[in-house]
Amino acid sequence: MSNGTTTSGLTFDIRLSPRRRTPQEREAILENPGFGRVFTDHMVTIRYSTEKGWYDARLEPYGPLSLDPATSVLHYAQEIFEGLKAYRHPDGTLACFRPEANAARFNRSAARMAMPDLPEDLFLGAIETLLAHDGDWVPTRADTSLYLRPFMISTDVGLGVNNPSGTYLFVLIASPSGAYFSGGVKPVTVWLCEDYTRAARGGTGAAKFGGNYAASFLAQSQAVEQGCDQVVWLDAVEHRWVEEMGGMNLFFVFGSGENARLLTPELTGTLLPGITRDSLLKLAPELGLPVEEGRISTDQWREAATSGELTEVFACGTAAVITPVSHVKSGEGQFRIGDGTPGPITMRLREELVGLQYGTRPDNHGWVRRFDR
Ligand SMILES: *Cc1c(COP(=O)(O)O)cnc(C)c1O
Repeated sequence: MSNGTTTSGLTFDIRLSPRRRTPQEREAILENPGFGRVFTDHMVTIRYSTEKGWYDARLEPYGPLSLDPATSVLHYAQEIFEGLKAYRHPDGTLACFRPEANAARFNRSAARMAMPDLPEDLFLGAIETLLAHDGDWVPTRADTSLYLRPFMISTDVGLGVNNPSGTYLFVLIASPSGAYFSGGVKPVTVWLCEDYTRAARGGTGAAKFGGNYAASFLAQSQAVEQGCDQVVWLDAVEHRWVEEMGGMNLFFVFGSGENARLLTPELTGTLLPGITRDSLLKLAPELGLPVEEGRISTDQWREAATSGELTEVFACGTAAVITPVSHVKSGEGQFRIGDGTPGPITMRLREELVGLQYGTRPDNHGWVRRFDR
């Protein structure tokens, strides 16, 4: 056992795995990692109790967690997570894109779920510690990366439901990933979901909270039954204002060339405030594309697509970066966006974002954080 970096007065204990995969085994896995299927040799864990605060920070072998069956998270779902990626830059160094923004959102999610704040330097320290030991798992090919999944669960044992837990466990795991939707930039067909809602005002929609996903699977299955790839969520009150697509935010492109402008649904408290969304709100105007946060209804969407005023629609998020939407289906029928192929603005913004993340474009915003080893 040796000691790692000190953060927030905490030192990460380093407990190396006796079962580390050999470089040959690792390279074989990295040939075709898929998404979220395989994990690196280690994970980071940090414990919390009301009396001690955060304590017992470690790097340890990746493996099962042992939980009492009465552990609070298994019954009352106090769980939050984040998703970000480590990219390999051309000079070999490892970098994350705006990890401070993930740390901040993690704490906003924690606050909503009555969970403790995790200091930013511990969140970043966990990433640094994991990358220092498992950095060779960051793949090198185009469009590949190491997906980082930090999460926090409540660990009090007992079925009393009146109070939030007094103890928590933070875990960081990492999974090498290829392109998210296999086959690169493949347009998706979406289903406008009028039967179920993802989030209502005052609810948990703006938190990256596991339960939001549990509540979405039925609608996602309905979308698939309808021959669609993804579900589009509408507002909970009128079921007509577009919110987001599955686990990604949406952008609408009106007009083309010099006259193109963008619209993205405004943050009403029911949408997840994506970091990719936020980055595009800043990048697009710099590329001469005015962008507005506002509202768009399903009727407006259909009419603008039919008249040709709406030229492109895409979804954005960390996992799949930017994914074009080609067809829209609902109880009222189906319509197409543009000619159904990825549009020029969609592809231009994707290139810009990917260039920043992979270090092939200059970072003028201070968004790239390098984790040198
Ligand atoms: C994570 C997530 C997003 C996208 O957020 P990014 O920070 O851009 O990855 C959008 N919607 C939902 C529901 C999400 O969980």
